[in-house]
Amino acid sequence: MSIIKQMDERLANMIAAGEVVERPASIVKELVENSIDAKATEINIFIKENGLKEIRVVDNGIGMDNEDAKKAFLRHATSKIKTEFDLERIRTLGFRGEALAAILSVSRITLKTRQSNSEGFFVRYEDSKLIDEGTTSLNEGTEITVNDLFYNTPARLKYIKSEFSERAAIIDMFDRLALSNPTVRLSLTIDEKLVKETYGNNDYYSLMRQVYGNNVLKDLIVFEKEFQKIKIKGYLASPSVSRARKKDISLFVNGRYIMNYGLTQSIIDGYHSFLMVNRYPLAILLIEMDPVLLDVNVHPQKLEVKFANESLLKYHIELFVKESLMSRPHEIPQNLSI
Ligand code: ADP
Ligand code: MG
Repeated sequence: MSIIKQMDERLANMIAAGEVVERPASIVKELVENSIDAKATEINIFIKENGLKEIRVVDNGIGMDNEDAKKAFLRHATSKIKTEFDLERIRTLGFRGEALAAILSVSRITLKTRQSNSEGFFVRYEDSKLIDEGTTSLNEGTEITVNDLFYNTPARLKYIKSEFSERAAIIDMFDRLALSNPTVRLSLTIDEKLVKETYGNNDYYSLMRQVYGNNVLKDLIVFEKEFQKIKIKGYLASPSVSRARKKDISLFVNGRYIMNYGLTQSIIDGYHSFLMVNRYPLAILLIEMDPVLLDVNVHPQKLEVKFANESLLKYHIELFVKESLMSRPHEIPQNLSI
């Protein structure tokens, strides 16, 4: 007797959700990236009880029509790619069509959306079923409210770290999103208190101040270099504001926050003689390159990126960082200044 069954849609989504939506911060990421893909210039994030009670993201993007407001929750449903050829030239942050389906499978969602010259619609889902829909009034854009996260996956809920670390992870995520979107106005409100906001005026100095505080602007080193049509812009904080963690080294490729062990290490190596042991720099690198040279489709959260020419890239980054630090006037390497 055959015992193999194809999983139903919801079960498959719940399993996939484990990869896409690990914790509240990953939901903030997915929702904000959707807003950015929808060309929003202003995105406001509201969090209640570390995201477990509520995550609400309000944008002024292009919105959806009432048919798409429902299709958006289907697995593998996306407006961003159509053919396999599009995979080679991804310009949007999303493309897998998984996030909303995955989030829906572990929460209750209300979505409101309005396109220009059209009326607003809302849909409400519970247990992955549409329970209500209709017209509603709202400004142009989209508002997604995610409630009771992981209510149906007690194991995951238990695994969620201390409340403090979820809050910290949300703030770290906000910082990354803010730094990778200097032309978008972003705000983060947690339990009714405005925690951070940016102005979206494309001024990296004011952005860094909003994200890291005034201190970081002192003796900030900025460089802009290019090799083989790869543009690299760096914002290097003075070695005097070094950190105990590597997390404040941020890499952005074509506007996407990425993680890459090798590139991070090459920044640390560039700072080498300027920092004491076990101290790490605060640095931001913005890389612009032909998307053909990178593979973003490695991991469901799209954080790990593979480069076609990683060792060359590493070599140049270390060199650029070192050169920029060396060319600073009056800079004495910290480990020589004792
Ligand atoms: P993906 O982003 O990979 O396409 P998602 O599940 O995140 O997959 O979203 C599915 C679709 O829903 C998107 O392709 C987009 O068309 C639509 N969508 C989601 N969020 C928004 C938003 N804030 N504004 C407009 N459209 C949205
Ligand atoms: Mg998406």
